[in-house]
Amino acid sequence: MAISGFYETEPWGLDAQSAFLNLVVEVATVLSPAELLSRLKETEEMLGRVEAERWGPRLIDLDIVYYGARVIMEQGLTIPHPHCHERGFVLAPLAEIAPDFVDPLRKATVTELLALLGKDGIIRRLDAEVPL
Ligand code: ADP
Ligand code: MG
Repeated sequence: MAISGFYETEPWGLDAQSAFLNLVVEVATVLSPAELLSRLKETEEMLGRVEAERWGPRLIDLDIVYYGARVIMEQGLTIPHPHCHERGFVLAPLAEIAPDFVDPLRKATVTELLALLGKDGIIRRLDAEVPL
């Protein structure tokens, strides 16, 4: 339904060498949250398997940030994503496509959550527009 721009974040951790690219998409789906997660894992595996030797293991990470206003705490699936509200690389792209979306746990909009991050949330948006 919608796609944000690409955001670049600095790598962290001992083995990280290149920057991360982050973006958020909005999808309409008939899949349940658990089915959607399993589809995302299949997709990660498919992409990772194809490119594993060239790009290393952390080729892609597909997470569910929100599933509408649903709050889900199942084995292996937590929605909203546990740390989304404190990560600029999630909130900044999300604010492009859903600024007024209300986080069902924090009862605050994406714009408000992003403002709370202050300087910690600063990341770089790439200039290029993303082709759909
Ligand atoms: P990361 O925490 O960096 O995304 P992984 O992609 O390896 O690490 O995720 C580990 C596990 O987190 C997944 O196997 C999945 O079962 C679980 N998980 C729990 N909640 C979510 C969510 N909202 N979106 C994606 N994965 C989730
Ligand atoms: Mg993940």
